[in-house]
Amino acid sequence: MPRRPAAAAAAAAAPDSSASSSSPARLSLISRHLAPDYPINTPYTVERLPNTIDTSLLPKTQTRKLSTSKAANMSSQPPHPTLLIPGPIEFDDAVLSSMSHYRCIFCPLLLESFPVHGGESHVGPAFVATFGETLSMLRKLFQTTDPAAQPFVISGSGTLGWDLVAANLVEPGEDVLVLGTGYFSDGFADCFGVYGANVTELKAPVGSRPQLPEIEKALSEKKYKIITVTHVDTSTGVVSELEKLSELVRRVSPDTLLIVDGVCSVACEEIAFDAWKLDGVVTASQKAIGCPAGLSISMFSGRAIEVLQSRKVAPGSYFGSMKKWLPIMQNYENKKPSYFATPSPQLIHALHTALTQILSRPLSERFALHKAASDRIKKAVADLGLKQLAANPDDQAHGMTAIYLPESVTQAAILPNLAKKGVVFAGGIHKEVATKYIRFGHMGVSVLDPKRGDVDRAIKALQDGLSECGYQKA
Ligand SMILES: *Cc1c(COP(=O)(O)O)cnc(C)c1O
Repeated sequence: MPRRPAAAAAAAAAPDSSASSSSPARLSLISRHLAPDYPINTPYTVERLPNTIDTSLLPKTQTRKLSTSKAANMSSQPPHPTLLIPGPIEFDDAVLSSMSHYRCIFCPLLLESFPVHGGESHVGPAFVATFGETLSMLRKLFQTTDPAAQPFVISGSGTLGWDLVAANLVEPGEDVLVLGTGYFSDGFADCFGVYGANVTELKAPVGSRPQLPEIEKALSEKKYKIITVTHVDTSTGVVSELEKLSELVRRVSPDTLLIVDGVCSVACEEIAFDAWKLDGVVTASQKAIGCPAGLSISMFSGRAIEVLQSRKVAPGSYFGSMKKWLPIMQNYENKKPSYFATPSPQLIHALHTALTQILSRPLSERFALHKAASDRIKKAVADLGLKQLAANPDDQAHGMTAIYLPESVTQAAILPNLAKKGVVFAGGIHKEVATKYIRFGHMGVSVLDPKRGDVDRAIKALQDGLSECGYQKA
């Protein structure tokens, strides 16, 4: 682990006077220790910027950059570096501003023309209508018309989706097969362990995914309650093929529930929940859906709900109990107020706006635009003489690209260089290669709104940045 523990220890070992001093003073003591080697981006990144708190990298530069570029007409948001990491992503203005509006109880349909500002009850009729419509719109986003399928929207991040699955759909001692593609599937496997499941992880080499014949072998050797797949593993940019996987699972082990971690794929990769016979897809608000972070969003099949209802042991989580949330979601969708734990009216409004925008055009068009941007980015990466973690084109995701750096260029050199150009990329997080690559997220408004020019600016920044870091294509 990096130096955090040392810093904490230093703070703890400081003379007793620190204990009696004010908390801001103590905070500054701790942050002084942390600042010089604060990690960039990820738990597995070991290289450090000389000082990431260096404010000279921040807004001054961006303001000048953005106001002279095409980005000037991109939105009414204050100038800021373009966030091109694999989530959170850039926001559409309407999504952000809907967080400060609510529907007047007396004119619930007039939101657009007469926005009302202020606090809002989570059980008031207007909010209940908004939440109910949000749940119904999710059915369209996941392409399900099966009334037995059930959407859930619960305050929390994408990780809460793992807890929902592990606490509700599997019982202690039951077997789970996790298809291992990287950091995020490792996390899902870890989560199952916490709730007492017996986990087998079928791991693929970095930049690849488990192949159908090995999955078939694993499924025929043991009966698994659940198989999970990370649709896009955000640590590697590898996309998995859900349709063929589902056919295989139904053929070889028909009772096994197929659960998809779609945190980095819902709304940028096609997901046909009914047609592909999926049993669960868990996602979050802040990636391709383009809403602020803070909502766990999921869809479960009628089969999964039956598994939940027929549990022998109560779910091993209170807040995360789908048994508790199920009637709440059903009531909201039927426009009946209901309470288990307070939802966030502001985030639900933002999600309602984001989903309204997403569904205002055919989904196929949205996926095609993500693919077109992705193809352009992948070509630019190849033209630079660089390789992706996902070597096989069929395995390459369309909402992000994980790019190996040239040997001569470090993350600590290129990421701040890009930041100075107003473009924020992410570092690596796959523990085997974390320092050797960077991640470029291309989802949502950055690829759907050509006026912003985000993708072109990012490609140009990467080309210039690498050359300023001394890289020349061989
Ligand atoms: C981001 C991500 C998660 C975790 O989501 P959080 O919102 O950070 O909790 C899980 N799985 C995948 C594939 C992700 O990309």
